[in-house]
Amino acid sequence: MQAIDLELASLIKPVSDTVRVSALHALAYCPRLFYLEEVEELYTQDAAVFAGRRLHAEIEKQEDEEWEELFLESEELGLRGRLDALRTRDGQTIPYEHKRGRAHRDENKQPQAWESDRLQILAYAFLLESALGITVKEGRIRYHADNVLIHVPLDDSGRAAVREAIEQARILRQSTHRPPVTDNERLCARCSLAPVCLPEEARLAHNKEWQPIRLFPEDDERQVIHILEPGTSVGRTGEQIKIARRNQPVEKVPARQVGQLVLHSFSQISTQALHFCADQGIGVHFISGGGRYLGSFDSRQGSIQRRIRQYAALSSPDTCLELARKLVVCRGQGQRKFLMRGTRGKAGGEEALRKVITQMKAVLKQVPQAKSLESLLGLEGNLAALYFGALPCLISKEVATELHFNGRNRRPPLDRFNAMLGFGYALLLKDVMNAILTVGLEPALGFYHQPRSQASPLALDLLEIFRVPLVDMTVMASVNRGQWDTKADFEIRGEQVWLSETGRRKFVEVYERRKQESWKHPVTGYSLTYRRLFELEVRLLEKEWMGEAGLFGQLILR
Ligand code: SF4
Repeated sequence: MQAIDLELASLIKPVSDTVRVSALHALAYCPRLFYLEEVEELYTQDAAVFAGRRLHAEIEKQEDEEWEELFLESEELGLRGRLDALRTRDGQTIPYEHKRGRAHRDENKQPQAWESDRLQILAYAFLLESALGITVKEGRIRYHADNVLIHVPLDDSGRAAVREAIEQARILRQSTHRPPVTDNERLCARCSLAPVCLPEEARLAHNKEWQPIRLFPEDDERQVIHILEPGTSVGRTGEQIKIARRNQPVEKVPARQVGQLVLHSFSQISTQALHFCADQGIGVHFISGGGRYLGSFDSRQGSIQRRIRQYAALSSPDTCLELARKLVVCRGQGQRKFLMRGTRGKAGGEEALRKVITQMKAVLKQVPQAKSLESLLGLEGNLAALYFGALPCLISKEVATELHFNGRNRRPPLDRFNAMLGFGYALLLKDVMNAILTVGLEPALGFYHQPRSQASPLALDLLEIFRVPLVDMTVMASVNRGQWDTKADFEIRGEQVWLSETGRRKFVEVYERRKQESWKHPVTGYSLTYRRLFELEVRLLEKEWMGEAGLFGQLILR
């Protein structure tokens, strides 16, 4: 591992040798926050960040005669930064920092600067001295929520603290290891990067008794826009996505309301819209007219560190086998539990189903002992044969025979049920890819599936976890509810059966509705929607090689 670390470290050279003052603020808050932002280049634009920007803009307007935003860099000190405001009082130059929140209160309830704010203003003051060659005696911080002004003197101990922090920042920038989560849990509740850091889950990985609070957002309310009509053009106008469908009024959707654009069939998207989507973190995916997932617009930046760690971890056959075992158990247990639902309230009935459930249990017991990926594939094949053989038992007797299921067939689908499964798995693959790209992992490098087809192995691996809850159960429920028109929703071409355009539209609605349902995660214990679960599971997978293992692949139905 040491050899790999040295090799990795040589690849990770900072662009500029100076450290940003705002990065020192993050460092004083939590070294892991510094690392996530500065080394892994993860940023979130949460409400607090936007509010901070608004505050600065307002101050700029009100106090323009004293405003003097200034960018400074000192090679000698190793620091750079942009000062909020600079004022002259009694012949002294004083840097100011504005904070939206309240000041810290000491034991006597006296207002004080927060430690990270204190280091930040000291760093600005020292930078000012170093870059301009003037004497700076103090910096000031205004906390707007309680209207308090704190004076922070710049003395030798303050200068030493800044130098020490710069040195620590430089060491961390060269490290390939993400620092551990902070011991002060209260910091995490206010940290903008908590949804990507997942500190509560890291604590749970080290202490099985830990009861995590949810810092990961329960839902993602941004829309997934499916463009199903051939000939539609997608463009950009200002901060909006513009959708021009044939013979329909142009639709404009604010970018902040859009999470993904899914272009089916032959729709067009402009280069400007693609650039805009990359900038706004909007996933862009392509699905063929036949319902096959074609690919995604990959605009990942700054995730080199994570991919290098992934390469290092997944080049170990033992790691791959261990993860693959979890995956096969997860999918097999999900399939078995789904079949068990078919026996509820039917005491003594459905004998065939009960027999299969028992057989699956016996196969699942062998999975933890599997010694190779090949033997796992054999066990997985047995489980799939048992599951799909018994699946017809879950179809209600009232369902039209055209919608019955008589075994799994893939491309081309030979019956309506398989046409729906195939389209559902394509949409699922797209969502899994979206999560992998959002997290910044390398989809081409998996731990179970081998790179034999166009599909990315890691996406195929993760797909296994979600097939039953998101597609199989959704198709079965919609069939049993009588939601399908056997003629209008399907197209028969010789032996092949495909969803028609109305069928695809209907399926997309049913699928997207399913993703909005909440689910209590069996490991973390908190609820979140399926559409958030994709990202959480990818992040938990990454933790498997980050020293925070044990939480991935346990999404088993109750
Ligand atoms: S969530 Fe907590 S541990 Fe993670 S970076 Fe933020 S403060 Fe540090």
